[in-house]
Amino acid sequence: LFITIEGPDGAGKTTVMNELFPILQRTMKKEIIRTREPGGSQIAERIRKIILDPAHEEMDERTEALLYAAARRQHLIEVILPNLEKGNVILCDRFVDSSLAYQGSGRRIGVDKIAQINEFSTEGLSPDFTLYLDIDSDEGLRRIARNRSGQVDRLELEGLEFHQRVRHSYLKLAEANPERIHTINAKQGIQVVVDECFALIKETYPN
Ligand code: C5P
Ligand code: MG
Repeated sequence: LFITIEGPDGAGKTTVMNELFPILQRTMKKEIIRTREPGGSQIAERIRKIILDPAHEEMDERTEALLYAAARRQHLIEVILPNLEKGNVILCDRFVDSSLAYQGSGRRIGVDKIAQINEFSTEGLSPDFTLYLDIDSDEGLRRIARNRSGQVDRLELEGLEFHQRVRHSYLKLAEANPERIHTINAKQGIQVVVDECFALIKETYPN
């Protein structure tokens, strides 16, 4: 079982993961593996650093898209596939949907082109179940500004319109994949959001 959590910056994915992971560990009979993208393996975490380094202003957007796809490939081979083969549950912070939304729409490369390179990188593997934490871009950016004291990554320096394109793209993806992508209103309190995420997973996977 391959579960992903998606959402724009400031939606609270990390906070939700921190709460949801132990709950799933307690209630599911299988081993749960928590991981994230970009990253999740040593090579992929090094690629993450390159992509997100604020000093890399000159990075071309297709280079960026390819690096995300490359990091994803390595993470898939080292972590996701071996664990799925063992029958473990993967709980992953971001996957291909992020690339479609951020590089496809945010960077305006085009969702179809990004889908193509990710088809190459994943050989078509799709999550079984996706929680999409939806937040409007103003609120998302306000939350980032409030919560980040130290390190800021390159993508968080993008303007409101970039983040609006990302969110709009996510909403379209959710609309096009209603069986897989489940939308949660992330403006609600953290406990409500976590409860809804858990209820949605349990509804589909009672064990
Ligand atoms: O989710 P997380 O905060 O770890 O993502 C790190 C940064 O990478 C965020 O600023 C996010 O907007 C960006 N990102 C991106 N394209 C992706 C995945 C993440 O621009 N495909
Ligand atoms: Mg972030």
